[in-house]
Amino acid sequence: MTPGDRARLVFEGYDPAVEGHREVLCSLGNGYLATRGAAPEATGDGLHYPGTYVAGVYNRLVDVVDGQSLDHESLVNLPNWALLEFRTEGQDWFSMDRAEVLGHILTLDMRQAQLIRELRFRDGAGRVTSVTQRRLVHHNDPHLAALETTFCPEGWSGMIEVRSTIDGAVENNGVERYRDLGRRHLRVERTWAPEEDTVALLADTTGSRIRVAEAARTRVQGARAAFERTVEEDEWRIGHHLVVPVFDGEEVVVEKVVAVFTSRDQGIYEPGDHAVRHVAWAPGYDELTVSNTRAWAHVWRRTDIRIEESESLARGLTLQLYHLHQVISKHTTSLDVGVPARGLAGEAYRGHIFWDELFVFPYVNLRVPEHARALLMYRFRRLDEARRLAREAGFAGAMFPWQSASSGREETPTAHLNPRSGHWLPDHSRLQRHVNAAIAHNVVRYLDATADQDFLSFVGAELMVEIARFWASAATYDHIHDRYEIHGVVGPDEYHEGLPGADHPGVDNNAYTNVMAAWVLWKSGEVLDRLDDHRREEIVAKLAITANERERWDEVSRRMRVCFHDDVISQFEGYEDLEELDWDAYRARYGNIQRLDRILEAEGDTANRYRLSKQADVLMLFYLFSPTEVAELFDRLGYALDDEGIDRTIDYYLARTSDGSTLSQVVHAWVVARRDLGRSFESLCEALRTDLDDVQGGTTAEGVHIGAMAGIVDLIERCYPGLAIRDDALWFDPAVPAELGPYSFNLRYRGNWLDVRVSADGIELEAHDHNRPVPIGFDGEVIDLGPGERRVLARTFDPGPGAEGVV
Ligand code: BGC
Repeated sequence: MTPGDRARLVFEGYDPAVEGHREVLCSLGNGYLATRGAAPEATGDGLHYPGTYVAGVYNRLVDVVDGQSLDHESLVNLPNWALLEFRTEGQDWFSMDRAEVLGHILTLDMRQAQLIRELRFRDGAGRVTSVTQRRLVHHNDPHLAALETTFCPEGWSGMIEVRSTIDGAVENNGVERYRDLGRRHLRVERTWAPEEDTVALLADTTGSRIRVAEAARTRVQGARAAFERTVEEDEWRIGHHLVVPVFDGEEVVVEKVVAVFTSRDQGIYEPGDHAVRHVAWAPGYDELTVSNTRAWAHVWRRTDIRIEESESLARGLTLQLYHLHQVISKHTTSLDVGVPARGLAGEAYRGHIFWDELFVFPYVNLRVPEHARALLMYRFRRLDEARRLAREAGFAGAMFPWQSASSGREETPTAHLNPRSGHWLPDHSRLQRHVNAAIAHNVVRYLDATADQDFLSFVGAELMVEIARFWASAATYDHIHDRYEIHGVVGPDEYHEGLPGADHPGVDNNAYTNVMAAWVLWKSGEVLDRLDDHRREEIVAKLAITANERERWDEVSRRMRVCFHDDVISQFEGYEDLEELDWDAYRARYGNIQRLDRILEAEGDTANRYRLSKQADVLMLFYLFSPTEVAELFDRLGYALDDEGIDRTIDYYLARTSDGSTLSQVVHAWVVARRDLGRSFESLCEALRTDLDDVQGGTTAEGVHIGAMAGIVDLIERCYPGLAIRDDALWFDPAVPAELGPYSFNLRYRGNWLDVRVSADGIELEAHDHNRPVPIGFDGEVIDLGPGERRVLARTFDPGPGAEGVV
């Protein structure tokens, strides 16, 4: 990759080995529809993987593995709308892997969200042709996508043949280790040619019976002489075969505009008919680019982070934001979807939704809170399923699944493959009950950022109560310690699925889980107190909440057990009995030891035996809570945890974490920021490389890491400015790495827009004219920032003319 500028990624040449990585980085999407940036002429052949996905379109298949039935619900790879093959007269269809390619540049323009490919090749007869392709997935009209191809013969005249196809013969083949399992999720129901220039294909998913229609309109512009058009189809695909006369040095343009609808869409009668009507009205590529660029300009105006000095940091951050916008957009609000951990352009984790949303909410809450509300509604609609899950497991309230897809059933597989050993192993990761605390945390932080009383009254309170009930029933009283305990869970560090030699899965008293449970029980009481009397009465009656129950929440929230050893918080009970791993020896033997679980299992050993973590576990507490909140929480629990104790705990686990999850670096960058900005900045840079450089060696080709991407943005927006919402005020306490240089962004707090500029010297705030006064806290003092007002929060520097310094 050559650098490009702040908002462009430029890839020169062609390397089949990294094609999957490029395809994902260069995907285009609008929150409803996303398409990988695969070469338009390619089909899924092992090197290339064109994939198209619509948020929320899942299907379930059942397979038998090792005699056990394994069912898996997957985000479905939909018919490939972008397929466009070409050849010069008398030659083979063009292929990057066979042709004599004279030049190839792929440019992703992230500002305009357009992918541009410039290609020159020489055919078998020695004729040179240049081809320029531009592609977009429209941000305003989520159902539209388009591909424009411009051919120009250099020194010859003759014919170019083009096949512009909708290919329904696609499968979910994007992840190598899933290939032993069922892959065909679609049946093609019908193909037809409703207009001379339009073809359409209707498919449905085999189990969920979602109908998916694509209609493609292909037009030719600039052809000097008449061209031929025929429809070609078989049971899986339909397209146009064009034979176009071309003349030396003259450009001919083939424009393909596509509409995609599914039976999940609102405001339509039937997807096939609707796709055809929609594409008939769609403008051409140039007009679509103009409206798409305008739509993206609005998106960037609300969400950009303007890094003023470092071009590479600016580009890295733009990439994170660009991909977040592909997954969460204004269209999310009218869909019933969560945030898939690996985005919408890859098939890892089958498009499932995990706790990763915890990392996404802070960014969404302070930018476009309507999106956060929509994501919480996805959970609320699945509350009954969570109640069922709780009951089946013997608990009260609602227990949300570790992995969620369309119905909110538990979608975590019961077995997984270790590609290193080839073994299928039992998968106990569903015991990560902490996902319930994450959902409650998202509710509370959303309410902090918005004070959305309607949401609190009709959605938030019920979610909190049911999750609190679950935790209260999961906690058992232990007489010896006079404390409540939670048994049989897996913490965020998935490497410990049980104690060594134990006959049951799960560990007891995972500190993160216990403290989060205590926090939820505490906050649920507060949330009920925040309701108006009328609504509280209704909720208390509807959910039959008793005074005894509320007392128990309070009691458990104060008496939850946390284990300690060596003056640090123990990740779980019994952690101190585990062995130390010889990290140097493993690094020397294996190089990359991020996936120590796989390495150890392949050696006939198990990660359960060692003091090691895949990712931040205990340290999540210092990530989610400010030092003041941590102090309050531990104080409430009756444990002494001072700053030295926190520092010791951070050092202890930093030294024992293999960063097997991309979330880990983000958390580490955050927790060390207050005492070692240099180290924090290093972790930030490492995190920024996650998908850009595919640091996990192949995982980006299976989808970007959305949690890490949002976490990176959040480091810049909240961590370094020290931004926290406390007592209805926006507090700032900046500690900014000098290497970041000055930067600025906008944020939205309780309906008010603020422009924020951060530099190593302080924070400059400017309120928009139509705001209401916003309480701002700094250095122990709260002031109201009035409409249109500008303030500088600085400890040491002169604010400059026109600005009033708080201190
Ligand atoms: C991490 C989890 C995460 C999941 C999906 C796993 O590798 O350990 O914390 O939720 O990936 O991103």
